[in-house]
Amino acid sequence: MLQHLPISHDSLRQIRTATKGDKTLQMIIKMMQQGWPSDKTAIPTEIKPYFSFQEELSHQDGIVFKGERAVIPSSLQEDITRRLHSSHLGAEGCLRRARECVFWIGMSDQIKKHIARCDICRSVDDKQQKETLHPHEIPNRPWAKVGVDLFQFDNKDYHVIVDYYSNFWEIDFLPDTKSSTVIKKLKAHFARYGIPNTVVSDNGPQYSSLEFQRFSLRWDFEHKTSSPGFPQSNGKAESAVKTAKRLLHKAKVSGLDPYLALLDHRNTPSQGLDSSPAQRLLSRRTRTLLAVKPSLLEPKVPQAKEALLNNQHRQCAYYNRSARDLSPLKVGDAVRVQPFPPHNKWRRGLVKKSVDDRSYEVAMESGAVLRRNRRHLRRSHNITPTVPLDIETVDPESAQAESVQTQPTPERPITTRVGKVIHKPRRYKDFVS
Ligand SMILES: [Zn+2]
Repeated sequence: MLQHLPISHDSLRQIRTATKGDKTLQMIIKMMQQGWPSDKTAIPTEIKPYFSFQEELSHQDGIVFKGERAVIPSSLQEDITRRLHSSHLGAEGCLRRARECVFWIGMSDQIKKHIARCDICRSVDDKQQKETLHPHEIPNRPWAKVGVDLFQFDNKDYHVIVDYYSNFWEIDFLPDTKSSTVIKKLKAHFARYGIPNTVVSDNGPQYSSLEFQRFSLRWDFEHKTSSPGFPQSNGKAESAVKTAKRLLHKAKVSGLDPYLALLDHRNTPSQGLDSSPAQRLLSRRTRTLLAVKPSLLEPKVPQAKEALLNNQHRQCAYYNRSARDLSPLKVGDAVRVQPFPPHNKWRRGLVKKSVDDRSYEVAMESGAVLRRNRRHLRRSHNITPTVPLDIETVDPESAQAESVQTQPTPERPITTRVGKVIHKPRRYKDFVS
C-alpha cells in the first residue's frame, strides 16, 4: 500500500528514518505489537500521553498513524511546522491544515509559537482588514454562482473569479483590462469547471460592455451586477480579492512560489467548516507538499451545505449584534454625518425624524435635509448645532459639497486609471431634499 502513497519517496523515507530513531515512537510501536496494558501506571512515562487514544493508533511500514494522521517524530516536528507555515497561512488556518494530516503531542502550541515569531506574518497583520459580513443565498452546489472582480497588485492587473459555494477562487494575470481579455479568462474557467448559472460583478466597463452581454447570452448564464454604493452585494469577489492580495503579498515578501501558496490555501479547511475550498469544489483534497495518507486524497463529496448555512447564521448573528451596538437616535440628537468623499470632514446636523429603525432624516447646518443610515451617523457629544443655521458661517467648499450630494441624478461615473468606472454610491442619493 505504501508503494502507492502519493508522497514523495524522500519525505516518506524521512519520516520512516526519523521514526526509527525516535525512542518514544519505537516504544509505541512495541506497545501496539504487544498490546497496551490496562493499567496506565504500568507504561513508561514517555508514552503516557498516548495512552488515552491508544485505540486510534496504528502503524504501517515503520510510520505511526493516529487515525489518518501521520505521527511526526520529534526530530522532524520543527521541519513540518515550517512546511505547514510555508505559505504563511494564519494560525487558525495552519492548525486546521495540520490537524488533517499530521499529529504530535504539543503540535498546536508549537505551530502557534512558530507563527507568533514569523516576521513576514507580523508585517502583514497590521494592514489586515476585517471582512464585511453580508448574508447571501448559498447555492445548492459548487460553481452554480460565481463572483468576478478586477484588482491591481504590484502595478499589474489581475482578475479574480470566486465560487459562492466552495469559496474556491482563481486569479488571472491580465495583460490589459479589455472586456475581451476578461471574457477569454472566464471562458477558460468555464471550460474547466462548467458554465455557472449566475455571474455576479460590479459595473466596471469590462462587465457592462455589449461584448460581455453577448457573452452571457451565448454562454447562457445570468449576469447580475451589484448596485453602485453597495459593494457588499459583490462582497464575495471583494473578499476573495483581499485574500488574494494578502497571499500574493506574503508570497512576494517571503520569496515563496505564489502557486504553492495558492495550493495550500485551497487545501486549508475553512473556518467553521470541516472541508477546504478544494474539497467543496472538486470533492477531493489535492496533493500538496505535505505528507498525507493516500485515503485522504480519494474523492469524497463533503456535506457542506448545512455547515455553510450554520456558518452564515453565526456570522449574521455576530454582524447583527455589532449593528445593534449603535444605539438608536432620538429626534433632536446632535450628530455628525459621514462625508462623501470620505476624506472630507464629518459635518454636523440634528436628527429630524426617524425613518425606520436603521435610518434617519438629518437636518444639516446648511439647511439641507439628508437621509442617512445609522451606520453613517456618529453621535456628537459636544456642540449642538443651530438648525436651520446662519448660512453665512458655512464655508463655500462644504456648501458646494452639500449641493453635490443633494443632486440625486444623473450620476457622473468616475473613471480610474485602469479604466474601471466608479459610480457614486447609491446611498448618497438617499436624501430627502
Ligand atoms: Zn508567516
